[in-house]
Amino acid sequence: MTGVAVFDGISIGKTWLVEEKEISIPEYSLTDGDIDDELSSIEEWKNKHGENLKHKKDMILETVGEEESKIFDAHLEILNDPELEATIIGHIKNDHMNGVKSIYETMQQFLQLFKGIDDPYIRERAVDIEDVLTGWIKVGLGIEESGLASISEDVVLFANDLTPSDTVHFTSFVKGVVLQEGSVTSHTAIVAKAKGIPTIVGFKELMPKQGQVVVLDTKAMAMIVEPDQETYDTYMEKVKEIEVYKASLAKLKDLPGLTEDGHEIEIFGNVGALEDAHATLDNGGFGVGLLRTELIYMESKDWPTEEEQYKIYYDIASTVNEEVIIRTLDIGGDKVLPYYKFDHEENPFLGLRALRFCLKNQDIFLTQLKAILRVSAEFPVKVMFPMVGAVSELIEARKVLDLAKAELREEGKAFNDQIPVGIMVEIPSVVFALDMFEGLIDFVSIGTNDLCQYTLAVDRMNPEVAYLYDSENISILRMIKHVVKSCHAMNVKVGVCGEMAGSVKTGLILLGLGVDELSMSPAMIPYVKDAIRKASYKELKEKYASI
Ligand code: PEP
Ligand code: MG
Repeated sequence: MTGVAVFDGISIGKTWLVEEKEISIPEYSLTDGDIDDELSSIEEWKNKHGENLKHKKDMILETVGEEESKIFDAHLEILNDPELEATIIGHIKNDHMNGVKSIYETMQQFLQLFKGIDDPYIRERAVDIEDVLTGWIKVGLGIEESGLASISEDVVLFANDLTPSDTVHFTSFVKGVVLQEGSVTSHTAIVAKAKGIPTIVGFKELMPKQGQVVVLDTKAMAMIVEPDQETYDTYMEKVKEIEVYKASLAKLKDLPGLTEDGHEIEIFGNVGALEDAHATLDNGGFGVGLLRTELIYMESKDWPTEEEQYKIYYDIASTVNEEVIIRTLDIGGDKVLPYYKFDHEENPFLGLRALRFCLKNQDIFLTQLKAILRVSAEFPVKVMFPMVGAVSELIEARKVLDLAKAELREEGKAFNDQIPVGIMVEIPSVVFALDMFEGLIDFVSIGTNDLCQYTLAVDRMNPEVAYLYDSENISILRMIKHVVKSCHAMNVKVGVCGEMAGSVKTGLILLGLGVDELSMSPAMIPYVKDAIRKASYKELKEKYASI
């Protein structure tokens, strides 16, 4: 199969093809006398749709979690957006369009605005606008919600794309999901992953027929339509084994990442919000190896203040109550902000990104460092700079950190003067110059996502060259080994927080290369921990001794 797996696993069920029903938009015009009635009607539909959204939020909150339910807060905000409503009312009052047509026209106008934007995150938001306004239109037309609600047997869903609203119907009957469109960052993909539903996005093959029995193996990227009895039984057996295995992982929760021959590696979670900190602990992680603070900036309506950031970092640090590595703002590249206009760059990944951006915008940087420092007064937080390319950049960053300390001292606010400072190693030049950082860093974390893209000259976002994006490439393994050697010579701890740490196969390679800590998506912690606890450090060390 073509496509990208969002969550690995095997699903067995009947195919359920989600048809996209064409909605026909009435074209009639209003007379002057109809206008007031039509305005009350759209208001009535809006309130009804608002109730639907609140109901969906409650359902996701109950069945998935708080983080995933937040999408419906965003949808309610869209529904109540004054600019959207003013445009709709304008069409009714000025153009005499009927209510449904006015909502439809407004939706098209806003979607057009989003179309030209390259950023995949922003493009995803267009899906939300479409979802909300289509829901509003459906209420106006009296059309029933998606037929997914009626699913009452095990199915694998096939669709062009699914909306956040559809995910409400991801009950235990939904065993797998296959989407022609969609991306791994889409909300649908996030919910599917959180629920552990094997899912594929970007599926380009012919769709099966409705109601056929199908086996979907997203790890092998294989699909068997109408399997014979023997194949069916074999896969059913595998599904049962996976279920038993998953249940067995729960007992590892409080156990350390200790190999069978007694070598310990720390297992941490990558976190973007408080919910991920809870997920890290629930899954058996002992700290946070990467707090991606840019997610906080991306969800904010304006630059988050020191106080706002302090509160968020404090909540996470007090929840974890163990080591938390807070990475300073990594914005630019593919990550943009709704309230800040970045200059056009030919190569944004090679441009004003992460630490480079912060050093150019020191007031923003200073605000963040003050918030982080204040949390360090009470909890063992560390500060980490992303995209460091040279010692001079680190020296400059440390000067801003000193300035932040001086300001806090003056304001009489407490902080840990000895807060550990680390860098991400994700630019190849730094790999071979780490000895130059001696005395300036307390720890290192290898960002293999970017290290691969910069070393292999492969855009990490471009599906056309995804086949070249290989974290097991010998040059990457040699680089990691070299970083470990340089860091250990300086007595500096070295972790990995890129995706490489969160897979059983590459996690074991990193263990063999001598890395001290692995930080990964919380959902992956039990699997990697289990593999580590069954591994022999001695054998892995030997295996990678001569690369
Ligand atoms: C990395 O580059 O490996 C990393 C962890 O950072 P991000 O994916 O946020 O760029
Ligand atoms: Mg990175």
